[in-house]
Amino acid sequence: MTLLKNIPKVDKVLQLADVRALLAVHPRPVVLKAVRAALAALREEALRGELGPGSLTSPAVSERVLAAFSAESAHSLKRVVNGTGVVIHTNLGRSPLPDMVRQLLSDIAFGYSNLEYDLEKGERGSRYSHVERLLCELTGAEAALVVNNNAAAVLLALASLACGKEAVVSRGELVEIGGSFRIPDVMRQSGALLREVGTTNRTHLQDYRAAVTPDTGLFLKVHTSNFAVVGFTAEVAAAELAEVGRELAIPVMADAGSGNLVNLSALSGCAEPTVQEYVRAGVDVVTFSGDKLLGGPQAGIIVGNKARLEAMKKHPLLRALRIDKLTLAALEGTLRLYRDERQALAEIPTLRMLTASPSGLSLRGKSLLRKLRREIPAEMKLRLMDGFSQVGGGALPLAELPTVLIAVEMENTSPQELEERLRKGDVPVIGRIFKGNFLLDLRTILDSDVPLLIAALKSVAGREAGFGKREE
Ligand SMILES: *Cc1c(COP(=O)(O)O)cnc(C)c1O
Repeated sequence: MTLLKNIPKVDKVLQLADVRALLAVHPRPVVLKAVRAALAALREEALRGELGPGSLTSPAVSERVLAAFSAESAHSLKRVVNGTGVVIHTNLGRSPLPDMVRQLLSDIAFGYSNLEYDLEKGERGSRYSHVERLLCELTGAEAALVVNNNAAAVLLALASLACGKEAVVSRGELVEIGGSFRIPDVMRQSGALLREVGTTNRTHLQDYRAAVTPDTGLFLKVHTSNFAVVGFTAEVAAAELAEVGRELAIPVMADAGSGNLVNLSALSGCAEPTVQEYVRAGVDVVTFSGDKLLGGPQAGIIVGNKARLEAMKKHPLLRALRIDKLTLAALEGTLRLYRDERQALAEIPTLRMLTASPSGLSLRGKSLLRKLRREIPAEMKLRLMDGFSQVGGGALPLAELPTVLIAVEMENTSPQELEERLRKGDVPVIGRIFKGNFLLDLRTILDSDVPLLIAALKSVAGREAGFGKREE
């Protein structure tokens, strides 16, 4: 307790040379905040009985203040290395953008643009025009619209197509995507009334027909992105539903979820329907995400029937859900790559990672390991292992992609400690612990991550090697 009394007062700390140096160049309230944070940490340690005798010397206190100051000054949103093997990792920002959009993104961000200006006519234009033709070309749809994300796309489409009317959905498709996106909840917000049909595992065309009343406004199909029902199951194909919709003059909408534009069935044997398939099936409106299998920025894309989309373009909700110019630039750049499928597969990181072959990963692993061993102190042991990666982002939930892992071990350091230190580093490296090994999956480590990974491993290994046992 005497130590608690000895913790210096704020005024005293402000007199320290290092802190005065901070005050000379930074605003006083900002420095004061760091001083208070440092003193609060010291008090807590004292109360827990963990404060070492050397901790209250002037240099030690100064160091604390400087550390608190850097912690407060560091950006909160930062780049991380994804070593988890989950390709579309929602917590880690889903899809990294293709390098080919970098220049466009920067030009649009730092200058003016023709976002809503028609350069031909010299008058006001539409922000949606920049991607509409492209989306129609790629999907075969008549019209297209883009909004903030797929949740917004579903909300807008439901509000526009079925507000005050019944939307008929199979019980087996009333999904929760996570982050509290649940189809019944979104439907309530849109003003559409949920009319469930069928059972969890089986829904038939007759169930949809039997549900039709004068109040029916929509048939909705939702792609069960993040789970699979196996066994005794039946669902109505989009084409069949579209046909009945035409017959009864009821619009049909599909929430396709991931929105892939290339057929990835070779990947896993699991079929994930493409957007083109929904359009060809005759569905009136299809919605999907921009940052899942598509591999672009966060966006919600709506394609389909011209008259239906016209109504959405005039809907008052659109303004609240509209896409921002940076997103639009990244989306246009990504979509352009799809005009040549080979280019899309080569340039879009999400697709490249998903289609990386085990032999390619193995070669990359060997070469990376050689490089790492040259750079990293021998205290840290690295070896390659076989394992599996996941698609993530609520796509292909059953797919297990054979991959190559780097197992990292260090003397006197548990996998849990290793995980924590890498996660808390300057450039955080996120891996996973499996059966007592700390693992980094090569599949989700980008080429541009390699220098960051080397620096991170070096800093963790170096600290152990250079300073003996950690003493913070
Ligand atoms: C992911 C997903 C959504 C939500 O999309 P966001 O772009 O994350 O808003 C909606 N529906 C389905 C079927 C999904 O898979």
